Amino acid sequence: MSEICSVCNKEVTLDEVGLTLKYFGTDYKERYCKKCCAKKLECSVEKLDEMIEFFRSTGCPLFN
Ligand SMILES: [Zn+2]
Repeated sequence: MSEICSVCNKEVTLDEVGLTLKYFGTDYKERYCKKCCAKKLECSVEKLDEMIEFFRSTGCPLFN
């Protein structure tokens, strides 16, 4: 199953879904690719890449 970004219709990766759930809550229905997520959060895509690595290092089940 694949999901698409609610903003740009690009296919999103599992990491991107994980980011969205992490930042917007597990009940959140929209999906964002990294670029659109960064825009929403007013941060950089590089920052989100760092956060993915960080969440993964904490053993977060959304990023395994
Ligand atoms: Zn997008």
